[in-house]
Amino acid sequence: MPDQQTLRARLIAKRDELEERVRRIDADLRKRDAPLSADFAEQVVEQENLDALYAIESEGRLELQKVVHALARMDRGEYAVCSRCGGAIAPERLAALYYADTCIGCAD
Ligand SMILES: [Zn+2]
Repeated sequence: MPDQQTLRARLIAKRDELEERVRRIDADLRKRDAPLSADFAEQVVEQENLDALYAIESEGRLELQKVVHALARMDRGEYAVCSRCGGAIAPERLAALYYADTCIGCAD
């Protein structure tokens, strides 16, 4: 289990990476705000590309939220504390799922 400082640095790097990804996709989506091509086959492809971009963007936003949440929990010294039962979250669990906020027993 890496120490908190290492973990924190990792989370911050992850947050920055996700923010950058979401920003890039947002910019890309804005550019595509132009009317769709007149050709129907092309319209279908353009729409599919858009859908894929939106999916990647919402995935990125979701993960970003989890990372920001994990960082906030770390600031409060609650990073390895289960948000449901208050017990400790096993280091192996955090290693596998760095933004886990419940222990394995409360996970489902
Ligand atoms: Zn728990």
